[in-house]
Amino acid sequence: MRPFRSVRPMVCGVHAFIQQCASCGVQRASVPLSRCGAVHKLSVAVFASYAALLYSTASHQSGHNSGVIHSGIYYTPGSLKAKLCVRGAALLYEFCERKSIPHRRCGKLIVAVDQQEIPRLRALYERGLRNQVPGLAMIGPKQIKEKEPYCRGLMAVDSPNTGIVIYKYVAKSCLDEFWDYGGCLITDFEVAGIEMTRESPMGSEGMQYPVMIRSTKGEDVYCKYVVTCAGLFSDRLSQISGCSPEPRIVPFRGDYLMLKPEKRYLVKGNIYPVPDPRFPFLGVHFTPRFDGNVWLGPNAVLAFKREGYKLCDFSARDVDLVLFCRGLRKLVMKNFSYGVGEMYRAFSLSAQLKALQKYIPELSIHDLMRGPSGVRAQALDRDGNLVDDFVFDSGTGTIASRILHVRNAPSPAATSSLAIAEMIADEAAKRFGL
Ligand SMILES: Cc1cc2nc3c(=O)[nH]c(=O)nc-3n(C[C@H](O)[C@H](O)[C@H](O)COP(=O)(O)OP(=O)(O)OC[C@H]3O[C@@H](n4cnc5c(N)ncnc54)[C@H](O)[C@@H]3O)c2cc1C
Repeated sequence: MRPFRSVRPMVCGVHAFIQQCASCGVQRASVPLSRCGAVHKLSVAVFASYAALLYSTASHQSGHNSGVIHSGIYYTPGSLKAKLCVRGAALLYEFCERKSIPHRRCGKLIVAVDQQEIPRLRALYERGLRNQVPGLAMIGPKQIKEKEPYCRGLMAVDSPNTGIVIYKYVAKSCLDEFWDYGGCLITDFEVAGIEMTRESPMGSEGMQYPVMIRSTKGEDVYCKYVVTCAGLFSDRLSQISGCSPEPRIVPFRGDYLMLKPEKRYLVKGNIYPVPDPRFPFLGVHFTPRFDGNVWLGPNAVLAFKREGYKLCDFSARDVDLVLFCRGLRKLVMKNFSYGVGEMYRAFSLSAQLKALQKYIPELSIHDLMRGPSGVRAQALDRDGNLVDDFVFDSGTGTIASRILHVRNAPSPAATSSLAIAEMIADEAAKRFGL
């Protein structure tokens, strides 16, 4: 990786520095964007809100997730999620091999533990086949035991193409490739404003660079086009450039438990439940990690701070938005008892243990310890429906032909990241008329 210093001089002259295509929070999208930039003779810059390079890659969702490379079973056939996950997983395995990023195809079982779940499990299997997920099979209790000796289940979908990786390493390798393509990383630049300039900035050759990006510290960068993919803040960045406030982002914190080291032998690969079709999350699962740990989780609890990783983290602005968001009030009313149950499980280890023992009965409370947390950016429409697929938006007015916001990139967006990035580059070329 190039040293931090080599990008710093770009930041020094930021008030006079002109970018041609700027992107906020899209490190992984930046490789295809910079390839796209090379084809169209544009220089590309990425803005990161952190000063230190270490925190500028995968600092939020991409660095606080389960680390699973999903194979694409769950998603509606024909949806962007389904197509981008299957392609993304193939691209990601190829990328990890090419860049020597540690990864493992350790497989996954989606396990039905009671009779009522079996029709849903069969439907998932059919879905996976329609999505062309490689290697899927339905297996019974004997084969479950062969693969996961401590797991009980009536039937399971076996997905050998599911794997694990550390997404921080993927993001760092993308950043290296981005630099190789001549991209520029502008750190310590939290975007606070995006607007069309009324007058040409000095030295900008007329109105060639009409979009002004302003940081929270008052620094300005002028550019031709902007792409944003700001995760938990994607609605706010869209809104500051004049787009609709909807869909809003609602933060859902996911807490993990971990197995104590002496109990890690209980889990070999990924073990997942049959998901509840009413919710977009996959349910509490068992995931092996590269450092030998086994994570259990995450749950899904409404968070009171967008980038708040602790149970008591709170932001008045974020809570304010939550209280006045009509869609969220509707969502809470519809799922009140489920939400209360998740909150209770977040506090009570024994309640979580009960859910986990359905799969591995031999687990006891003494085998568990609290682990890290992540916060999901879940887009929500006006009517309280969780938005399932990706959302692109440019808004209206003169800026619309110069800006592209990625407003919803939910799970499995880490798996799909390289495929999403290709799509962003194509979409940018189309919308900007490159
Ligand atoms: C608990 C959890 C588990 C998950 N498990 C998996 C999994 O196993 N497999 C999988 O495929 N997916 C998983 N996901 C989903 C996946 O991690 C996300 O969908 C994906 O990482 C989203 O990437 P992103 O780049 O859109 O957002 P992020 O990774 O959150 O990046 C957004 C970036 O934008 C920057 N930013 C925001 N505002 C500004 C601003 N004003 N100025 C400058 N920069 C800004 C932020 O600093 C951040 O760096 C999980 C997610 C969570 C939370």
